[in-house]
Amino acid sequence: MKEEHSLIEADVLIIGGGSAGAMAAIRAKEVNPDQKVVVFEKGNMKYSGCIARGMDAMNIVAVPDVSTAELYVESNSIACDGIMDEPVNYRMAERSYGVMKKLESWNVCFPKDEKDEYEVLKIHPKGRFCVTMKEPELKTILSEKAAALGVQVVNRTMAVRLLKNQNRIAGAIGMNVRTGELMICRAKTVILSSGGTARFGLPDNGHLYGVYDFPGNTGDGYCLAYRAGAELSGFEYTLVYYITKDINAPLLYITLTRGAKLLNAFGERRDQDHPNPAKMLLEHAEGKGPIRIRMDHLSEEKIKEIEDILFTTERPACERFHAGRDNDFRKGEIEMWPTEVYLCGGHGLTGVRVNENAETSVPGLYAAGDTSLVARGHLSGALVIGEVAAEYASEFAAENGEVSINEKQVADFEDELEACLAQKNNPVSIEEFEYKVRRMIGDYLKPPKNEYKLDRALWWMDRFRKELKTMVRVCDVHDLFKYFEVENIIQSATMCAIASKERKESRWMPWHYRTDFPEKNDAEWKKHIVLTCGDSLEDVKVSHKPIIKMGN
Ligand SMILES: Cc1cc2nc3c(=O)[nH]c(=O)nc-3n(C[C@H](O)[C@H](O)[C@H](O)COP(=O)(O)OP(=O)(O)OC[C@H]3O[C@@H](n4cnc5c(N)ncnc54)[C@H](O)[C@@H]3O)c2cc1C
Repeated sequence: MKEEHSLIEADVLIIGGGSAGAMAAIRAKEVNPDQKVVVFEKGNMKYSGCIARGMDAMNIVAVPDVSTAELYVESNSIACDGIMDEPVNYRMAERSYGVMKKLESWNVCFPKDEKDEYEVLKIHPKGRFCVTMKEPELKTILSEKAAALGVQVVNRTMAVRLLKNQNRIAGAIGMNVRTGELMICRAKTVILSSGGTARFGLPDNGHLYGVYDFPGNTGDGYCLAYRAGAELSGFEYTLVYYITKDINAPLLYITLTRGAKLLNAFGERRDQDHPNPAKMLLEHAEGKGPIRIRMDHLSEEKIKEIEDILFTTERPACERFHAGRDNDFRKGEIEMWPTEVYLCGGHGLTGVRVNENAETSVPGLYAAGDTSLVARGHLSGALVIGEVAAEYASEFAAENGEVSINEKQVADFEDELEACLAQKNNPVSIEEFEYKVRRMIGDYLKPPKNEYKLDRALWWMDRFRKELKTMVRVCDVHDLFKYFEVENIIQSATMCAIASKERKESRWMPWHYRTDFPEKNDAEWKKHIVLTCGDSLEDVKVSHKPIIKMGN
């Protein structure tokens, strides 16, 4: 270490205070109130992450007498086209009802009907698992709970490197995104819960931050894990959603489950099946879009119910947006379009490989939420696996003694930082550069894909990696932390191109549609494509791993 930095100690360090991180922090204190639990959060834990304020449903809950964890595993395996490890998904479903009841005991509202039953909707291929929630203050409740239990939250701090001592995890380097000061956390265990790569492709509206998922999530968790030697998978699952045009806000389940009509551009009804973003994308691509939502036939009571959820629980900005577009739900219709392409464990299949104990392949390193590969786990995956990660990480911390920091790793990062800060006079602003990187991601990694496009993606990412160091201007702390975010976006794109090239078939249509291999090929490709770090960051090693079944 060349300079003195703030140093903090933790038994459990959590990187990312979103849904999974907040829940992990709470659970770590519950299982051992005496241990020191620290959260590094890039924003402010009170409002950061996918939830931001509230959420209208917990998508996977095995409610007793309605469904079972076994049925969920069967159902989700269909939804994942067979690329799903059963034990971790089973554990998530098995504990989902317990977590929901726990939230309810904290006054999170899960509405009940006159028969005292929860509203459980069908959005999966088999069974009913989606429980309606009506809680505009969910994130505040979680963060206040964590604070009350004595969790130390270090807001505005981006984890930039994990620290290791030989093979074991030893903590992390955090950087304050306002002052640039470094904070070194020496930790016995680390839980990665920093979301997916939301800032990946560019949305049609051209705004860098106007994305569907939380814009502070730039693949940091994936890249921290990758650099530390952990296994990653599912980078070929390139998600595009189909949602409200220009604001990219949720709408579909909230309206369709309450009787709204879904129409294509020719006025043909499309809401007979449960709403299926994949089918809508295909219809849009065939020129039958945009697909629209109509509610003018609904009662005033129903419309008010929808507005209430959309404008409070989901996102207050929706009210201003729809007013600005003259979208009166009583008269008009709401247009939907494809979102930008992004990578995510919660809606998709991208993430750090974990077993049913949330353990990664690196001792002492755990992952939860959208950073981890708990296929299509959504909020339930984040909350439940957040708890599981906390339990096993706490056990690891109790069983393994202190770990010392390898000062050379900190000194190496200080050198990197010095080199970045010397880029004051370079010609390209970090925003212009990010725009171009993400435009190319949209051009070459957004499905449909083919080998030519994927090779172009790799060529561009290689070039961007060099240009980030030679062309980009870093004038202040703001530029500095964005520099590290863009580095992670480029690395996520490299891994996405490599995994997409490797999977020589089409699967999860349209999310991994290879026009040069248009058929699904279970015989050869019903397996995981696993990525690990070779001799350098760009040396991505590829291997194949079988799907893990229960009892294996
Ligand atoms: C718009 C939208 C609507 C959704 N609706 C539903 C729904 O109705 N039901 C459902 O079940 N699921 C829903 N989901 C999915 C669900 O919300 C997510 O799967 C879940 O919240 C992910 O939690 P997470 O903790 O992994 O990520 P997040 O909650 O996004 O948290 C990640 C946190 O990490 C922080 N971070 C990132 N990088 C760093 C770093 N380097 N250092 C420190 N901190 C960092 C971020 O600031 C953020 O706070 C929705 C998702 C979205 C985007």
